[in-house]
Amino acid sequence: MSLLSVDQARERILSHFQPVTTETLPLTGCSNRVLARDMIAANDLPPFDNSSMDGFALRAADVIDATAASPRSLRVVADIPAGSHPTISLAAGEAARIMTGAPIPAGADAVVPVEDTDFDNRDAGTPAPDEVQIFKSVNLGRNTRPRGMDIRAGKVVLHKGRVLKPQDLGLLAMLGFAQVPVYRMPRVALFSSGDELLEVDAPLEEGKIRDSNSYTLAALIEDAGAEVMRLGVAKDNRDAVEDLLEKAMQLNVDLILSSAGVSVGAFDFVKQVIESNGKMDFWRVNMRPGKPVAFGEYRNIPFIGLPGNPVSAFVGFEVFVRAAIQQMGGLLNGGRPTVRVRCEEQIDSDGRESYLRAQVHEDAERGSFVARLTGHQGSGNLHSLVQANALLIIPAGVKCVPAGQELRAWLI
Ligand code: AMP
Ligand code: MG
Repeated sequence: MSLLSVDQARERILSHFQPVTTETLPLTGCSNRVLARDMIAANDLPPFDNSSMDGFALRAADVIDATAASPRSLRVVADIPAGSHPTISLAAGEAARIMTGAPIPAGADAVVPVEDTDFDNRDAGTPAPDEVQIFKSVNLGRNTRPRGMDIRAGKVVLHKGRVLKPQDLGLLAMLGFAQVPVYRMPRVALFSSGDELLEVDAPLEEGKIRDSNSYTLAALIEDAGAEVMRLGVAKDNRDAVEDLLEKAMQLNVDLILSSAGVSVGAFDFVKQVIESNGKMDFWRVNMRPGKPVAFGEYRNIPFIGLPGNPVSAFVGFEVFVRAAIQQMGGLLNGGRPTVRVRCEEQIDSDGRESYLRAQVHEDAERGSFVARLTGHQGSGNLHSLVQANALLIIPAGVKCVPAGQELRAWLI
């Protein structure tokens, strides 16, 4: 059995995953979905010159000398609410009352806000005055938003491979995209294995524990942008394992993910069953926790077997499975946010690439982030993972990290 570096193992896994097909969805269904095409603006934004204030549109040259003590009086020739389409053209000495978002009329080149006039009554229904006193001069273009100021037609506003955020949906709406091409969500079948595992609502029994990996991993799968098909728990025997794998086949999934049962224990049947109906690579990866990773195919469907210990399963997911799901889902630049942190205390390691549970917080005085480990790092201690907000990465080959040294951490 080979000993691989984390990068080697990840590369081997990723070489087996291609982006899934795409689909076109109504904009309302696109939150958190991955864009499948570059989106190009078909119109300018804003689409027309408009006012950024409630006030009076005018010619800046008319109010050059205006002050509160010596205001400039202008004739109000139009009232322009948002949504209207003014056809007038302002002449010298003229102004138009204008609302935020309303089109700037021809002839006007600036807007003076109501606060800088004698007409600051903004109550709904108040008609425009016939005359207005302007108390301040104004620069050309002030308080206006010229057409195309934000985006010019033809610009790529969102790139293929981006996870659509709420504000992206708003921008797509501004540009009139009612339908959006996105990648289909990858489908992942998930099961746990082990005779010791109980359902979450079962009372504890001697020698048994509750299946927690199903819950952690299902949520991680969804967080990575895939749909999860939960298959429950396979008992530690050939038939039970085969049964669940066959179920996964019928669900038309892109990946089968399991936890436990892939070690070299006498009751670890997953490996056997996969081997007899497909192929299986089993590696020891030079990492901790989560050294054993099984990778293969069951009847042509990719299979990843994570370790059973709850923290190992989590770390294995973050290191290998998240990237595989994201690659299938068309996502570019995915992964957890990475920060550089200083270690609060000395950390001893064993030379393997390590993903340690840590609490990262800001050191306001030094303007940097520091990390502290959250309790004992046994791979069954899920509580220390719950208390962590980061996985602190100790590179391969390092046996001691002195206090104060910088490391990378993934925020989780
Ligand atoms: P195994 O890989 O089957 O040898 O399991 C390694 C360890 O992980 C054992 O202590 C198991 O009891 C534990 N384990 C396996 N599966 C789960 C699970 N689904 N939830 C919680 N712990 C598990
Ligand atoms: Mg087991």
